[in-house]
Amino acid sequence: MELPYAESWKIKMIEPIRRSTRQEREQWLKEAHYNVFQLRAEQVYIDLLTDSGTGAMSDRQWAEMMLGDESYAGATSFFKLEATIKQLMGFDYVIPTHQGRAAENVLFSLLVKEGNIIPGNAHFDTTKGHIESRHAVAIDVTTADARDTQREVLFKGNVDLERLETILRENPGNVPFMVLTVTNNTVGGQPVSMANIKATCELCHRYGVPVVMDSARFAENAYFIKTREEGYADRSIKEIVREMYQQADAATMSCKKDAIVNIGGFIATRNKDWFEGAKLFCIPFEGYVTYGGLAGRDLNAIAQGLDENTEFDMLETRIKQVQYLASLLDQYGIPYQRPAGGHAIFVDADKILTHVPKEEFPAQTLTCELYLEAGIRGCEIGYMLADRDPVTHENRFNGLDLLRLAIPRRVYTDNHMKVIAAALKNVYDRRETITRGVAIEWEAPLMRHFTVQLRRL
Ligand SMILES: *Cc1c(COP(=O)(O)O)cnc(C)c1O
Repeated sequence: MELPYAESWKIKMIEPIRRSTRQEREQWLKEAHYNVFQLRAEQVYIDLLTDSGTGAMSDRQWAEMMLGDESYAGATSFFKLEATIKQLMGFDYVIPTHQGRAAENVLFSLLVKEGNIIPGNAHFDTTKGHIESRHAVAIDVTTADARDTQREVLFKGNVDLERLETILRENPGNVPFMVLTVTNNTVGGQPVSMANIKATCELCHRYGVPVVMDSARFAENAYFIKTREEGYADRSIKEIVREMYQQADAATMSCKKDAIVNIGGFIATRNKDWFEGAKLFCIPFEGYVTYGGLAGRDLNAIAQGLDENTEFDMLETRIKQVQYLASLLDQYGIPYQRPAGGHAIFVDADKILTHVPKEEFPAQTLTCELYLEAGIRGCEIGYMLADRDPVTHENRFNGLDLLRLAIPRRVYTDNHMKVIAAALKNVYDRRETITRGVAIEWEAPLMRHFTVQLRRL
């Protein structure tokens, strides 16, 4: 008999979690203004809000924490991180930052000017925020495939090269860089192929435009290249990562994802001018350039996390768990962005809550329903997150409206996946009875989804 697949680690430490009653959840969600960001974590049973900073560190990472060098400048921890990044990605210059958006803030302070155009394959919300707050324009150049959740495409995160070229051609001198996000979080944690990464870099460079890779889930992207793209099956994850970055000019990284730490980020680049320029913004925003808002122990844990999470077994355990959850949803006929993404399942709320008009935010409504059903906290990646158009101030209803179930790394078991799928099935089975959504009572001018206050209709 063939042995079944199992995790490539065992558990050394546990943290209790608690179920609640529907009555408690009704009260808590009302107090949270129907925005799950406003819940207390202890009011949540299974927390799928994000895979960011929620992973479980390994015994080796905890051991590295003890070895952290807390010197203000030139700590050994910095050099350990710098050497790891150089070896993995091939970049000579590294600036640590306290998280991914801080890397964006530091680098974009140097590079983004008012009126600039910055194309990208679905900019992450903070990336878009850092562009738009500087009165520049972020243009999405993801392939059209990504918009059809039911189409099975192996590399749905890819860049539409024709669209990108049109933008580059029409805006000479006004595109300071292009953002290539791996995996493409916004469209469902979908990977970008090696061929597309290379073609994107070559196209941009032909127009003299550098490429910044938004690298939060670069290791998961490498796993998909290894398992899906011709010619990579026999290459190690580390070899594939090295090749992914060969032609890129810089990376911004949220270490809270694929470095499996609770906090941290960095900028890495081969461009000395960018390095020198960005350092001047790092010091006032983040701190001295060898610690960038982090403790020495954090730098050590990041270095160890980057190294161990670019090993195949670690990534396989991770991706297979997400795919297991997807297989349960398949059994129940629940539509989601296909195929399953690397870090999450993106449930297609528009196809489930068909009676809720888009003006009443179907995915936000589904997020509330799943919480009420079982205390499971997902995250809306849809019309609420899409914010308003900065010029017309109209809601942006032209993208996808998804409920993201982000799976923290090395935290929940497959039994939790069964609970999640069953709870979603219960909501799905009564979808015809859900006819009204939510209305906005108060919203912030930028990145409203974190703090928005809603009313149930
Ligand atoms: C999380 C994320 C960021 C921002 O990183 P933080 O560490 O949350 O600040 C940027 N880009 C992508 C693709 C992300 O997933």
